[in-house]
Amino acid sequence: MAHIKSLAPVNPKRRVDLKDYNPASQAQLPEEATVKTLIEQHTQEIGRFQELLYADGSKALLVILQGMDAAGKDGTVGKVFDHVNPMGMHVASFKSPSAVERDHDFLWRIHQAVPPLGCIGIFNRSHYEDVLVVRVHADQLLPPHLRHARHLWKRRYRRINDFERLLADNGIVILKFFLHISRQEQRRRFVERQKNPEKHWKLAASDFQERKFWPDYQHAYEQMLRHTSTPQAPWYIIPADHKWVRDYHVARIVHDTLAAMKPRPRPATDPRLITMRFT
Ligand code: AMP
Ligand code: MG
Repeated sequence: MAHIKSLAPVNPKRRVDLKDYNPASQAQLPEEATVKTLIEQHTQEIGRFQELLYADGSKALLVILQGMDAAGKDGTVGKVFDHVNPMGMHVASFKSPSAVERDHDFLWRIHQAVPPLGCIGIFNRSHYEDVLVVRVHADQLLPPHLRHARHLWKRRYRRINDFERLLADNGIVILKFFLHISRQEQRRRFVERQKNPEKHWKLAASDFQERKFWPDYQHAYEQMLRHTSTPQAPWYIIPADHKWVRDYHVARIVHDTLAAMKPRPRPATDPRLITMRFT
């Protein structure tokens, strides 16, 4: 297993050009059937690590998923965390902010959804929407008082990095995955949804409009990836046109990260509990 090289995180010292990353890449992977066996092994071990994480109680793992519509964020959650006890998992999906949320800073709703120690948390979209969709549609989505703020995006990147450092200081290990799909693959998935009545509910009017802004999103992603990939919260660009490739890379990185966290069951709160006799 160890002979397959794990993907490297985004290096913040270098410009990110998404054209250099092939969304359909299968590079360095064995054939699909073999990879699927590995995914199953990794996801089972992720389940076991989660039990240890809970028994340890001094650390948490936060997995952040971002990607264009139909990039497979929901599918990744379902596959990679398939064997995790739901009691130890906290999944938060971030939609367009409510009126109350809009009256607070952009990290307010995020902080409340951070997983407690002992758990695995998953963000399906996240605070990064505030430097992605909000950047692409700043004219509509930015509150008027911020529209002319200087260096707004750079400042947001810095606030995000500081926020993530705060979480890291509290024992939270953060992994961030950008599920990178091609424009053609997105189209194929949307058309598939149109053909399948069970998936009609997933279609939104915005799916048709947002495709026009594809280059703007890619640019916003490139900036975000470079400026917010940090040692305590690295970004990984996941080739996501093939679901099995996507699942493999995410499962592998989550698995290896949990292994490196070395979760160990904590001792009894009182050593006498071990030898005390039950009546
Ligand atoms: P979905 O993930 O398909 O359920 O869609 C959720 C929608 O909420 C997406 O179109 C996101 O771009 C949007 N969204 C999430 N967070 C924000 C935000 N902070 N500001 C504006 N829109 C957002
Ligand atoms: Mg959607």
